[in-house]
Order: sequence, then structure tokens, then C-alpha cells
Amino acid sequence: MGVWRKEINTVLLLMLATTIVGAITGLFLPLLFLLMLGIIMRQVVQISRFEKWISTGGRSKYPKTTGIWEEIYYHVYRIKKNEKRRKKKLGKMIDQFRQSTEALPDAAVVLGVHDEIEWANKAAREVFGLQQSDKGQRIPNLIRFPEFIRYLKSGNYKESVILPSPVENRTTLEVRIVPYGAGLRLLLAQDVTQLKKMERMRKDFVANVSHELRTPLTVLKGYLETLQDLDDGHSPLLTSSFQQMQGQTERMQHLVDDLLLLTRLETQQKKSQCVDVPALLSQICKEGDTLEHAASRIELNLEAVVHIVGDEQELRSAFTNLLGNALKYSPEDSVVKVRWYQDKESIVLAIEDQGEGIAKADIPRVTERFYRVENKRLKKVNGTGLGLAIVKHVLMRHGAHLNIASELGKGSCFTCHFPVGRICI
Ligand code: ADP
Repeated sequence: MGVWRKEINTVLLLMLATTIVGAITGLFLPLLFLLMLGIIMRQVVQISRFEKWISTGGRSKYPKTTGIWEEIYYHVYRIKKNEKRRKKKLGKMIDQFRQSTEALPDAAVVLGVHDEIEWANKAAREVFGLQQSDKGQRIPNLIRFPEFIRYLKSGNYKESVILPSPVENRTTLEVRIVPYGAGLRLLLAQDVTQLKKMERMRKDFVANVSHELRTPLTVLKGYLETLQDLDDGHSPLLTSSFQQMQGQTERMQHLVDDLLLLTRLETQQKKSQCVDVPALLSQICKEGDTLEHAASRIELNLEAVVHIVGDEQELRSAFTNLLGNALKYSPEDSVVKVRWYQDKESIVLAIEDQGEGIAKADIPRVTERFYRVENKRLKKVNGTGLGLAIVKHVLMRHGAHLNIASELGKGSCFTCHFPVGRICI
């Protein structure tokens, strides 16, 4: 403000001087005109110098001047200087970010709205074989695996996909897409070769051990049966020992059978046929009642006549496990309801019992392998802890899911939801 006042004061002083000189000489008007012309010319010269300075970026020190123009130069110079400092800081940050993402062991690729590569780090260039010149190329033209293209197009990026590396097919990659910003996506890939190798080794180990145990078990069972036949019942200790040995051998056989079934579910392709589920359920329920040696406990309601595409053997195992559990974990005189029906979204098998129920905290864990609920009463019930793991696997292979509703002391309801797309009749 002070500079402005000084500037106005100078003009006023010059006008006063012009008026006095004009009054003395009688040339007021020409003098006033000259004064105005002088003031305007001075401003034009200043504007032209300013324009010259700013057109070179305003980076050099500004020319020497006075008054309001010195102020203007100073402010613009300061803004420019701050901007330069900010740009430098931002550039440094971007460099640091680039260096850290380049050093990442996982591959990262930024994809644009049309699946084009906007940026890729060093690991991405190595595992996907990308070149610097591939920037702007559409990623489906470079990574051509059908499962990857399906995943990219699906827009559903909750899960990841497992792919071989396009450069080295012995390397296994877990690829995941993370959407962010406006239409941008970050493609991340991790080398899971070792993990997959260990998983395969675990599966092979379990499969081999289970398979190898079958023969000694059959031999043991055979000898036990012979010994039991020879037992004349004179020694109660011997009789009960035989019984216990037989019980344990049977338990072990179930364990081995369940482990082999789980391995098959993990490694083998499932068959796809049109399965008559109502007929299958009628058969399983009949067998269930026969096994129970009791008056019919099972109430079967076939509300839908639909058949579904699937593997009959696998579905039989899953349904038998669920029904077996409902019968095992509920009182002998209670009813078990089995329903096959269709609702808006799915075809449902519901198996409901009036048993002990499962505590809320145990519900998410009962489908884990070997998980059995800690309960003195339930401990007496025979089981391997693998039944529900088998159910979960079978359903997963059929695009279905298991839902467990249970209340302690009241009972449980296990529902299997199959997608309507599986209906074949
Ligand atoms: P198990 O061979 O022990 O029955 P499962 O995997 O079939 O193994 O079941 C795991 C556990 O879940 C069981 O040990 C039991 O505690 C619980 N469970 C399963 N079904 C029921 C049910 N219908 N009612 C109560 N508890 C159940």
C-alpha cells in the first residue's frame, strides 16, 4: 500500500509542478499533455521489459527497477521460485516412488481404462517379458492365457488367478487386479512356484501315505475277524480287546478313505452328468434309516423335481456326510428333516436336525480338516473330522456353497445352495 501511495504522490507532485510552470508560462495544456505522455511511455516501457522477462520463464533475476514495478517483479519472482521448489520436491518424491516400486519383488503394472499398459516395474518386465516399448499396448495382446483374459474381462477381482509365467512356464504366478482411481487398475503378480510345489508335495505325501496304509489295514482287519471267530468268549478281556481293536481299525479305515477322497477331490477332474438328485436323496435316506436300526427318523420332502449337472459319486459322498452328521449328533428319537427345493436364486438341499447344535465360534471352523468340536458328549461319537471338509470341497467343485445355521441345544440346519444354471431337467 505504501508503494502505491508513493507512486500517486509522485504523479500528484509532477501535476502540481506542471500546473505552476503552466501558470507562469501560459503553456498549461501542452505541458500537461507532455506529462501524461511521459507517464504512459514509462508504463509502456516497464510493461515491455516485464513481458520480455516473463517470456523467458521469469527464472533469471528480474531487472533493476523502482516503485510499484519492483513490487510486481518481486512477487512474481517469489511465486516462480516457490513453484520451482515444489516441482523439485514432487519430482524427488516421484523418483523415490519409482525406485521403490522398481525394487519391489512383486510385479506391478498400471492398466488404463482400455486395458493398456501405462506403467510397469522391473519385476513385471521380467516375469511377463514386457519391454519399455510395450507402454500403451493392450495387456491381453501380450498375456494371452484364456483364464487371464476371462479374469480381466470379468470385472470381478475379489479372487486371484494362477498362471504360468509367459517367459518361463516352470514359474507359477498368482495374479491379482486391484481397481483404483477413475477406471485405473493395478495388476500385481507374485511368484508362487515354491508355494505350489510345497502344496503339491503335501498332497502327494498324504495321498501316498493313505494309499500305503490301505494294504496293512486290510490285512489287520482280516486277521482280526479270524481271531474274533476263534474267540470262544471265555476271556472277557480278550473279547473286549478284539472289539476295541476292530473299532479302531474301522476308524482308521474311515480316516484313510476320507483322506483319499479329499485327495481325489483336490487333484482329479470331476465328471459332469445330469444327476437325478431326488432319486439320489431317496436312496441315501433309505440307507440312513437302515443304518440307524430304528424306526424312520428321516423326513424327506422333495419339493422340486429338478436334476442338476454334477458328479453323482461326489454328491453322494457330500449328502451322506451331512445326513450322517445330522443323525449322529442328535438324539436317537429325534426327527431329521431333508428338503430339496428351489428358491429365487438357487436350488437348495436343507438337512435339519434337533441335536446339540454348534456354538457360534465353532461354526466357521467345522469345515476345516480334522476339526472336531470339543464336547465330552460328542467325543463319544465316532468321526474323522474330515466329513464337512469333503462336503465343502464337493460343493466348491459344483459352484455351490454351504450355509450352517445352528443354535446350541436346539439343533442345526445345513443348507447346500446350487446355482440355477446347473439345472438339467
Ligand atoms: P466328524 O467326522 O467328526 O463328524 P465332520 O467334519 O463331519 O467330522 O464334522 C466336524 C464337526 O462338526 C463334528 O465333529 C461335530 O462336532 C460338528 N458337527 C457336524 N455336524 C453337526 C451336526 N449336525 N450337529 C452338531 N454338530 C455337528
